[in-house]
Amino acid sequence: MLIYLDNNATTRPSQTVIDAVLPYLGDCYFNASSAPFTGADKPRVDAARALAHLLNAEEPNCFAFTSGATESNNWVLMSSCRGKGTGRVIISAIEHPSITEPARELAKGGLDLIEVPVDQDGVIRLDALSNALRDDTLFVSVIAANNETGVLQPIQEIGRIIRERCPAALFHTDATQAVGKNAIDLQGKWHDIDLLSFSGHKCHAPKGVGGIYVRPGIDIAPMMLGGGQQQGLRPGTLNTAGLAGLAQAAHEARADMSEHIQSLRNEFEQRLIDIFPDVIIHSVRAPRLPNTTFFSLPGIVAGDAVDILGSAGILVGTGAACSSGAIHPSKTLMAMHVAHEIALSALRVSLSRFSTAEDISRLLQALQTLPRKAIASVGALPKPAP
Ligand code: PMP
Repeated sequence: MLIYLDNNATTRPSQTVIDAVLPYLGDCYFNASSAPFTGADKPRVDAARALAHLLNAEEPNCFAFTSGATESNNWVLMSSCRGKGTGRVIISAIEHPSITEPARELAKGGLDLIEVPVDQDGVIRLDALSNALRDDTLFVSVIAANNETGVLQPIQEIGRIIRERCPAALFHTDATQAVGKNAIDLQGKWHDIDLLSFSGHKCHAPKGVGGIYVRPGIDIAPMMLGGGQQQGLRPGTLNTAGLAGLAQAAHEARADMSEHIQSLRNEFEQRLIDIFPDVIIHSVRAPRLPNTTFFSLPGIVAGDAVDILGSAGILVGTGAACSSGAIHPSKTLMAMHVAHEIALSALRVSLSRFSTAEDISRLLQALQTLPRKAIASVGALPKPAP
């Protein structure tokens, strides 16, 4: 049996989610814009209601649905900033590429882009954010929970600073990793958020469905044109089967916020430290998602380790990426000023409600078999730039 410990990459839909999807691939295959008696618009209505409940949004109408968080992130950035001519866009240094790349594209068009640094634990530097905010700031985007370290950013504090210094700036968060794993209260602690992106497949819904939350009173233009669906905001035939799964997954998500996942993760980290006294658990001092451990075993090569573990039937993630034959360390760890060699040995274990103590034990056994090369010295960690 495969041991799946890469739930920040994607998650398994539960049987109840699959059961909710199937009718919309079968007898209820109709277009959501068809006559109401077909019931084909029900998944959209149900998903909006379930999300409004899960995130404590003002009303179901606050949600527009997309193909996933990549589209959502591109949409909010492009439609809020494109064509503005001048102005500042602020993002954190640890955003997902679906924020970083459109933001850099906007900078090529003349907008002023600032990437706010994080500290050694991967938490955004509030002093740097505060200094970056100017009267002409159009848009601020900060990831709610980092996909690699799992670090939860201080959204409430960030919102307060933005509202104090630039009340007119739009505040967006990419909450792809946070939705369904952590309590989110859009009318409480997160009341300064204007826009929020999410993705179904990170919280046990099918792939290819996600969306944005738009605070009532905030205007957002469509990114695509050519159809009246979703009030013209996001044209294109709705993914009714995906939405049915998203509705069910959002409904079930509270189960993931139980203590089961966090206690399993804590047990894993304790045993990891006992077995490997030299292990480095990244961001261990920061508030983190309850399901994520991002760690380096000095001397392992993360890419090779993922392959070896994979051939033993254990799937984990790594922050390192291979492109054009070269291996690049995790951008997040680089932003945290982690030594290059340590970053290249980083593995990510991310749990879900389907993870078990047995999975953890099997992984710990397998980790002990990984080849480790002697490394000279990683040296002292450099100080983060001011
Ligand atoms: N943002 C974050 C933080 C993510 O982890 C991911 C998925 N890796 C995305 C955006 C993109 O999501 P999707 O796969 O739904 O396009």
